[in-house]
Amino acid sequence: MSADCPHNDDLDSVAAQGNHLIDLPRIERAVREIFLALGEDPDREGIRKTPERVARMYAEVFEGLYQDPDEVFKTSFEEKYNEMVLLKDIPMHSMCEHHLLPFTGLAHVAYIPNGRVAGLSKLARVVDLFARRPQVQERLTEQIADFIQSRLDTKGVAVVIEATHSCMTIRGVKKPGARMVTSAMRGFFLADHRSRHEVLSLIYGSANSYF
Ligand code: ZN
Repeated sequence: MSADCPHNDDLDSVAAQGNHLIDLPRIERAVREIFLALGEDPDREGIRKTPERVARMYAEVFEGLYQDPDEVFKTSFEEKYNEMVLLKDIPMHSMCEHHLLPFTGLAHVAYIPNGRVAGLSKLARVVDLFARRPQVQERLTEQIADFIQSRLDTKGVAVVIEATHSCMTIRGVKKPGARMVTSAMRGFFLADHRSRHEVLSLIYGSANSYF
């Protein structure tokens, strides 16, 4: 749990579920304001409950703001295995912080252990936790890599994310289907092109697909 949540002293007005410490009534008021600004009647039957629904949705899609990533690797364990571990095609959903629109796709996470390993589900948890914040894809990719690198003290980490951004498909340049690919390489994957080639081959079948 983060100690610097801005609403710690106002527990009545926050969602009681899980670790959510997001001020739901405040989001509801803001959404109502948006309807008013649009010239809509926020009390119209179809949208009367929308502010409440949006507030609950935000509490869910931004829950990573108030979850402690260090909880995830608490149960990492000693293991002599020193070859690459790759979890690919992890479904990833995040929210673009520039437009508050979703970007969704796949994350691929690989690391070379240095005496410590973590369960595969933990890698997916790390992706989720950092994705459930207001994000940009570049930072998300780096945060996942840096976190795994620092907590598991690996010999190398590779994170590749490919995603389509709603802010590119429904507005602006309107290019549905365009995928953004970001990667963050640490340790061996950065220093040794054979390791990098190996992980990209395992992810894509051919390392030349995207890089
Ligand atoms: Zn955007």
